[in-house]
Amino acid sequence: MASASSREGREEPLQREASRLAVRTNLEQVMNVALARHSRLVMCTVVMLLTGMLLILFWSQMVFSSHEFDSCDQPLALMIRLIFIIVMVQTMQKAISRHCLCYDAVEDGPPEPLRVRVFRALAVSAAVLWPLVAGVMLLQSKTCSKALTTAVAVIIGYYVILVIVVLVLPAVALGVVLCLIRRGRLRLPRMPGAAPEGAVESLPVLEFDTGRFCEDGRGEFPASCAVCLETFTAQKEIVKMPCNHVFHRSCLSGWFQVARTCPLCRGDVEQVIV
Ligand SMILES: [Zn+2]
Ligand SMILES: [Zn+2]
Repeated sequence: MASASSREGREEPLQREASRLAVRTNLEQVMNVALARHSRLVMCTVVMLLTGMLLILFWSQMVFSSHEFDSCDQPLALMIRLIFIIVMVQTMQKAISRHCLCYDAVEDGPPEPLRVRVFRALAVSAAVLWPLVAGVMLLQSKTCSKALTTAVAVIIGYYVILVIVVLVLPAVALGVVLCLIRRGRLRLPRMPGAAPEGAVESLPVLEFDTGRFCEDGRGEFPASCAVCLETFTAQKEIVKMPCNHVFHRSCLSGWFQVARTCPLCRGDVEQVIV
């Protein structure tokens, strides 16, 4: 019994890496459920961002029409016209691909021909490069009219807001929440798939001992908790699942709020406890 527990408790480094990946995938599934619950907020944000973009685009094209021939040491008017073309190309990518490049993703299926991939790469590069080039031009311009410089500055400002709202904020929020769940410091509301009440309390507590918890394969258990990836110490209580996987009690208790399976082997906690 002791040798079986020792064998199952020990894991090769590669296996351990795979296990950590499994834990991360599980956590991401949990996050997807949480995001789906806030779908109304996501939809509102998208509608607001699109409306803002259309208003700014419409206004900037009016500025272009009335200040196209203003004297300017930088081609800011051209940049205002370019951003309009870039947004149009982005929104009509499918139509351009079908009618100009003779490729329909639904009818022709994968793989995409080279001409379509080149077109996509060019469209994305233009969208990414525009704010950088426009920013440099804006910094160097000395004789441009206020109307042109304001229009370019507003578009660049909106670009920055888009990047923050669409990319940076969700990435930071997801990272922080995942980290808190991992460390057992965030109690998500009990989900339908949560473990039964008192599941953690029913597990045996292990005494910490450097000889039993080490990475080199000589110990009975791994040296670190697969949920928070922190090394086991005598300060945080360690519990053992009946499948012989060991975790911090606080980590497992957080985990059991959203899942009823062992974070490593995915065994159902009720089945293994009974
Ligand atoms: Zn832990
Ligand atoms: Zn397990």
